[in-house]
Amino acid sequence: MTGTLRTETQGTGASLSGPSALRGSSVLRGAPVVPGVGYGPVIRPGRRAEVPSAASVVDELDRGTELERFRAAAAVVAGRLRGRAELATGAASEVLSANAAMAQDRGWLKAAEKLIGTGSPATAAADAATEQFAAMFVKVGGLMAERVTDLRDIRDRVVAEILGSPEPGVPTPTVPSVLFADDLAPADTAGLDAELIVGLATSLGGPTSHTAIIARQLGIPCVVAVVGLDDVPEGTTAVVDGITGDIVLEPDAALADAAVKTARAELDRVSQWTGPGRTSDGHSVDILANVQDGAGARAARMTAADGVGLFRTELCFLDRDTEPTVDEQAEIYGQVLDAFAGHKVVIRTLDAGSDKPLRFANHAAEANPALGIRGIRIAEQDRGILYRQLDGIAAAAAATGSAPWVMAPMIATAAEAEAFAADTRARGLKPGVMIEVPAAALLAEHILRHVDFLSIGTNDLAQYTMAADRMSSQLAALTDPWQPAVIALVAHTAKAGAAVGKPVGVCGEAAADPLLACVLVGLGITSLSAASAAVAHVGAKLSTVNLAQCKEAAAAALKTDSSTAARAAVAAILN
Ligand code: PEP
Ligand code: MG
Repeated sequence: MTGTLRTETQGTGASLSGPSALRGSSVLRGAPVVPGVGYGPVIRPGRRAEVPSAASVVDELDRGTELERFRAAAAVVAGRLRGRAELATGAASEVLSANAAMAQDRGWLKAAEKLIGTGSPATAAADAATEQFAAMFVKVGGLMAERVTDLRDIRDRVVAEILGSPEPGVPTPTVPSVLFADDLAPADTAGLDAELIVGLATSLGGPTSHTAIIARQLGIPCVVAVVGLDDVPEGTTAVVDGITGDIVLEPDAALADAAVKTARAELDRVSQWTGPGRTSDGHSVDILANVQDGAGARAARMTAADGVGLFRTELCFLDRDTEPTVDEQAEIYGQVLDAFAGHKVVIRTLDAGSDKPLRFANHAAEANPALGIRGIRIAEQDRGILYRQLDGIAAAAAATGSAPWVMAPMIATAAEAEAFAADTRARGLKPGVMIEVPAAALLAEHILRHVDFLSIGTNDLAQYTMAADRMSSQLAALTDPWQPAVIALVAHTAKAGAAVGKPVGVCGEAAADPLLACVLVGLGITSLSAASAAVAHVGAKLSTVNLAQCKEAAAAALKTDSSTAARAAVAAILN
């Protein structure tokens, strides 16, 4: 198998730009994960400069120069951040201003200068002063501890400036650009400005990696697992086609602009869909949004989503060194409940571990973290983390007058579901669990005795069914939710829910694919939850087909033996 995923196209299934329209240009291919087309010059994240070892001592005569190098670098970094703050708006501007001020913090500057005065090179002094302050911040805990990441980021920028190396992290371009990277951490992706980063392509990562999920949330056209991406120099102009998975290099500018316009027009057409979710013959299906915090929920509220089907709470805390208090958690969860007051909101308890480690969850090193202590298994080690989170959710529910549904990730046995349900009900909350492990799908009828609803996480269900790492670009064809084995497990779970009249939703990326979403409805799935950017695509498609067609498509998919055959069989019925 190669990393070229041309035949595994996801998304709306229709090319908006059409590679033929840009014929003559060189084309790289990957897995499309966020629909839309972006065009601009390529930028890349800068590499973090290594702090040279502190072994050397600066001669007394040169210490003045060293001091000047440090002060000048800190001033340049602060100035650059201030400039960006002026260009940005809202929360982004506030964060950049605060970071600019931090780069000129008197205490931090003094600590570094003192070290330089005793012979420390400027880079080592910046590093040591940062670690002194980081230790202090961690000790204070709470919001101070969260600033440690910002402080280290400033250290990296100052060190790079002293060494004359490129600025680390994702640069803020002055013109709309496309960002190429080997991969991006969720924290990097979450900070992207969709006005300036108009396309995203990575050489690693699978369609359901968290980078892809966050890009979808931001609505940035995105292609992952692109073969040959690393060889494209910065400054090359490129089209990122998040529908076909094509990366077109040095295209004709007029044709590229036209492709972007066509894609926008198609997106506009789809965005006319205003809900509610139902098939053309009136079969109701809740179309919900996946969110990661209050801001995401408020953005989702602007779409036709009828509620939140998955609030990934762990994404609120990726940068935290210490566990948020119950009150802090209640405040954060309350923001999401407020945004969707009077609507269904499904909050997932922390899915820490594997590719989303939380520092305060104290993960031990594991050979196979995806098969290790993640999701509800953290609570098996330390029930307190779960109790405090449930307390935070209950407090948010009381403060906002809402009745959220609460579900646990990575449930593998009925006993885990039973224990979770008891802890959740004890706090007056409605319990459910995610079906992400094949064992749980197969025993759904037993699990349903304990909980009020199920939500299928097709990303992990595909990973564990196919024994293929969802982060692996080479295995992306195996982790495709169109795999008939995955569809069969969804069918089994939906049937178990229907038998006892309990809702079974899908909140994995399968629900973001309009064609596959229709198949899920045909299988008996009662709600579809996808990133905000996919909500209108899914709702618009569902409104064009009737329930009988969805059932026919589902039956056809279940008869196939490959994802390619499943897609083709369904497309023949629904397109
Ligand atoms: C899933 O596995 O499908 C899911 C929704 O959870 P996550 O992607 O956060 O692991
Ligand atoms: Mg999952």
